[in-house]
Amino acid sequence: MSARILVVDDIPANAKLLEARLSAEYFDVLTASNGAQALEICSRAACDIVLLDVMMPDMDGFEVCRRLKSNPATHFIPVVMVTALDSPSDRVRGLEAGADDFLTKPVSDVVLIARVRSLTRVKMMTDELRMRALTSMEIGVQAPEREAVAETGKGGRILLVDDRPSSYERLAPVLAAEHAVDVEPNPSEALFHAADGNYDLLIVSLGLEEFDGLRLCSQARSLERTRHVPILAIADADNNARLLRGLEIGVNDYLLRPVDKNELLARARTQIRRRRYTDHLRDNVQNSIEMAITDGLTGLHNRRYMETHLATLAEQAGVRGKPLALMMLDIDFFKAINDSYGHDAGDDVLREFAVRIRKSIRGIDLACRYGGEEFVVVMPETDLAVAGMVAERLRRAIAGELFAIEKGAKRIEVTISIGLSTLEKKGEPIADVLKRADVALYRAKHDGRNRVVATAA
Ligand code: GH3
Ligand code: MG
Ligand code: MG
Repeated sequence: MSARILVVDDIPANAKLLEARLSAEYFDVLTASNGAQALEICSRAACDIVLLDVMMPDMDGFEVCRRLKSNPATHFIPVVMVTALDSPSDRVRGLEAGADDFLTKPVSDVVLIARVRSLTRVKMMTDELRMRALTSMEIGVQAPEREAVAETGKGGRILLVDDRPSSYERLAPVLAAEHAVDVEPNPSEALFHAADGNYDLLIVSLGLEEFDGLRLCSQARSLERTRHVPILAIADADNNARLLRGLEIGVNDYLLRPVDKNELLARARTQIRRRRYTDHLRDNVQNSIEMAITDGLTGLHNRRYMETHLATLAEQAGVRGKPLALMMLDIDFFKAINDSYGHDAGDDVLREFAVRIRKSIRGIDLACRYGGEEFVVVMPETDLAVAGMVAERLRRAIAGELFAIEKGAKRIEVTISIGLSTLEKKGEPIADVLKRADVALYRAKHDGRNRVVATAA
């Protein structure tokens, strides 16, 4: 995991210095001496993180940052502003331009490496998500980039964990100007509160009286419900070691007391914006996974999914010495339905057929559309006698009730043929079981359709 860092500074000696320190930690380093060059490198996606000098002739760091962050092709690259001026107003200007973090010259080694490492982790995770989401764009899911650029980071839900009234009474109203804020003064309740509240951001004071704020941060990181919620820590200026420890365990950003109000707002917005972006990516990936394993017309699993999971089910059955039954179903004279009533009517029949399959089987049974008008149902812990009863019940559920087509204007008769087979011996290739069901199905068709046939072992 060697990230590539772009160092942008108009003074070669400054760039060289940072390059040497980062290289010593095995980061891959590129340098640029002006904003235009930096933008060009970023647009080629040639770097993972940008360390950006603020004061440069021609285009200053704020402007470079603003351009990077407003371009859908580069906005996800973390930008760290490196500034000689440690004034809150400059930090706020940078955050407004979209900067992810700040380093103040002279840059301390420990802080430099800790920040770069922490941003590398974020970048690797979003890269992975973006890559997977790209696949889903091919199937028409909208690209998250455009929305991310428009995202303001306002209107979030924030939990402020702070046990000092003098502190939270000052901070909460500031945040409330842009977000919905809950205050939790009792640190031992904070984790439950955080897990229940569906928050976009946790702000944790590290100076809690009788509680270790860092412990809370690390607990929030390991709990499923709060794992992806960003954490902004508020630390006392004299506690650098604890702050670094916090960054290591996954605190996303920090503020030092006394807290500057504008900086607090700007950092909260940055975290919330980033959180929404990654959430969006994650949803995208989830959607594309579902699409990849689901048949679009019927909502049943598709053949690819079934083939992977059938192997697992068969193996489990073998290990536990339990039976496993499989039925292959095929609609009778389906081509004639298409020919007489049209393809849409055929689709209606397939959808309704899937609904009736679902109603006839148990939750642990796996139903999938195997191809065109052919379906497979796998029934764990089911022997041939029981499978025969289920198949017969399903056959009747189809033949016994007409299928509505043309929005209910017509009702037609549909029948199915079913071939049944079971896993015969431990370790038997599942393809053999499928093959036997297929042979049985063929016999059912041959013997007159609308019937169930089981293979003799
Ligand atoms: P048999 O009783 O022997 O199974 O006859 P059949 O007509 O059902 O079988 P055949 O395999 O000859 O025809 C299946 C038809 O199913 C052909 C194909 O156009 C149609 N089909 C496949 N997929 C779909 C689909 O998604 N929608 C619709 N409407 N028809 C489909
Ligand atoms: Mg058919
Ligand atoms: Mg067929």
